[in-house]
Amino acid sequence: MSDFYKMQDPTTQYPKAGPEYEQQQEGPGLQKEMNPIPDSGETTYVGKERLVGRKAVVTGADSGIGRAAAIAYAREGADVVLSYLPEEEADAKEVVKLIEAEGRKAVAMPGDVKDESYCVNLIETAVKELGGIDILAIVAGKQQFRESIDEITTEQFDETFKTNVYAMFWLCKAAIKHMKPGSSIINTSSIQAYSPSEILLDYATTKAAINTFSKALAQQVGEKGIRVNVVAPGPVWTPLQVAGGQPPDALPEFGSQTPLGRPGQPVEMAPAYVFLASQESSYVTGETLNANGGMVSP
Ligand code: NAD
Ligand code: MG
Repeated sequence: MSDFYKMQDPTTQYPKAGPEYEQQQEGPGLQKEMNPIPDSGETTYVGKERLVGRKAVVTGADSGIGRAAAIAYAREGADVVLSYLPEEEADAKEVVKLIEAEGRKAVAMPGDVKDESYCVNLIETAVKELGGIDILAIVAGKQQFRESIDEITTEQFDETFKTNVYAMFWLCKAAIKHMKPGSSIINTSSIQAYSPSEILLDYATTKAAINTFSKALAQQVGEKGIRVNVVAPGPVWTPLQVAGGQPPDALPEFGSQTPLGRPGQPVEMAPAYVFLASQESSYVTGETLNANGGMVSP
């Protein structure tokens, strides 16, 4: 069994940040160029047959939290369509290999979720290549810090909303048409939804919208037997944070404000995405599962 499952002190299970965390990449950033490289479960996540035969679409599947969800879904027995940006091919290739190593199907579908036709096509690809869609995990997101509202251009505001909110709307709309009872949608919010940083004005606003959208949609599709839930991570060590998500000089302290005193690793989010996708959460819908190191959330 991997150490990930051994009872241990969660404050020391993964390292605290430190001076070496100060680094910067051009967006969207590559996981393989980070130091230290985040743990997305490549050698740590062990499947327990929770999703055997399921058909999943995961956005942002190349890196960070989406990569952890994609790897976990495959290890639990699902086939996966992976969405990511073309610039992230190097990270995505590694995930495809890991999924295929489990004997599962991996379908790579690079593209831009700001484009409605790409979102529709992504779902159609799952239907065609996997024979349907039972799990839609929307993990892609855009976060660019700005010190002041004056520095947020209309273009940035628009891109943040298109990536985080519009894409969710387009993907859910396209997927629900094909989903059978038992299917599950998992969206990705953040501690920022309720405890916004002043430098993440546009981003935090989208994360609150994601929670509300998911609660409303859960009520609408409950009678179809489709569940809609949300994972709300706290500070997790991923490319998003080193590619303009945080000021680089804040990274040596990343995660230190949480009661557990350290950043989370993407693999620590994977069990939440698996739980909400699997039948184990059959009576859970419209819920936000916070995995944030103990920061206070509603
Ligand atoms: P990440 O950079 O590894 O993942 C984000 C992914 O979004 C990218 O890999 C990219 O593939 C995708 N993406 C961005 N813009 C896109 C576009 N226009 N078209 C297609 N794909 C696009 O970082 P992450 O931290 O794993 O982020 C995953 C999710 O977790 C995001 O929704 C983020 O808001 C959320 N989140 C992260 C943290 C954190 O501390 N890392 C905290 C709370 C919430
Ligand atoms: Mg990426």
